[in-house]
Amino acid sequence: MTSRVFRGSFTQQEPIPEEAIEAAVAVMRSGRLHRYNLANDERGETALLEREFADWQGSTYCLALASGGQSIQIGLRAAEVGTGDRVLTNAFTLAPVPGAIAAVGGLPVLVEIDENLRLDLDDLDRKAAESGAKTLLLSHMRGHLCDMDGLMAVAARRGFRVIEDCAHTMGARWNRTKSGNFGMAACFSTQTYKHMNSGEGGFLTSHDPDFMARATILSGSYMFYDRHGAGPDERHFEATRYQMPNHSARMDALRAAILRPQLPRLEENIARWNALYNTVAAELVKCSAIAVPMRPQNEDMVGSSIQFRVPALDAAGCQALTRRCGEHGVQLKWFGNNEPSGFTSGHGSWQYFDSQSLPCTDRILSTLFDMRLPLTFSPQDCKLIADIILENVGTVRP
Ligand SMILES: *Cc1c(COP(=O)(O)O)cnc(C)c1O
Repeated sequence: MTSRVFRGSFTQQEPIPEEAIEAAVAVMRSGRLHRYNLANDERGETALLEREFADWQGSTYCLALASGGQSIQIGLRAAEVGTGDRVLTNAFTLAPVPGAIAAVGGLPVLVEIDENLRLDLDDLDRKAAESGAKTLLLSHMRGHLCDMDGLMAVAARRGFRVIEDCAHTMGARWNRTKSGNFGMAACFSTQTYKHMNSGEGGFLTSHDPDFMARATILSGSYMFYDRHGAGPDERHFEATRYQMPNHSARMDALRAAILRPQLPRLEENIARWNALYNTVAAELVKCSAIAVPMRPQNEDMVGSSIQFRVPALDAAGCQALTRRCGEHGVQLKWFGNNEPSGFTSGHGSWQYFDSQSLPCTDRILSTLFDMRLPLTFSPQDCKLIADIILENVGTVRP
């Protein structure tokens, strides 16, 4: 038995590209950091980024925002979700998702996940019928796209709209269609741990001009909506500009400058993430005690993190595995923890709405582990990480 230790950091991202640093310095030298503070014919970094992201994503409209969470909140508000409205969402997601529903006065209706961490479409169908919810906030949690054709069929049958939370699927595809292009709108994050890094930031995309006009005014555009890079025509603002409150959630020029040079590198980075993911997954599947989620043929993933279960373990075993891997430099997050910790929390700790019974999700999460795969890791690092996990699963197995 080896006692090798991994020395890398699971929270260390790559540096911002030099070109982006130069662009950011140029914005600072100009003094014009606010997105609407433009010289004569200037388009501005934020508007240019909106145009470029819309083109990359294949969406008609794109609005740059201060965070991914803000893009969800504004998306829900622009979809006219209000006080007391039920909103279907995944029981397995991160805190900003139910948080955004609560921020608009909505009531989350949590839907079970299956063993591959995808939304359970039968439970979705049942809860859509029971609750009468008119909106699904679909979280593509940890990049596991569900059967999007099946999901959209349930949506059509039950008459609810879909807003996609693509915080973990920027660049992923289902049957060659990019995630975010299935529902009426999609929300993206450019927070440090996602697929582009501006510290904080987000995008809202859609093909619906009236929805996008509402979102633009909500984002705090004042009457500068004509200074956007991928927004709807003026006529869509005629009534909306008097009706929507300003929620001040704009993206500034500095962050946009940091993001623009990252966009052309995204496809290459996706291939790099997938190489890291595949290295870890290829090792973990060799151990019969470990269940790695199945990745369907229809999915083109972005493997920026990996999840696996050790179904035979009890809570003490899961804690022991987390501790021992940690002692060897491998930081696992365990979704079965009753106490929220770091970025990780479960539906049981979102006590600002009524608790809901989710036996399948709870059973799956009770032995679910999660690990980031930052691009500062090499495939050799990933091999070592996988070896350490395998070795320690061996020591804690009942
Ligand atoms: C990060 C994240 C968000 C929100 O993004 P922020 O930019 O951090 O506000 C939303 N949903 C999921 C699943 C996330 O991981």
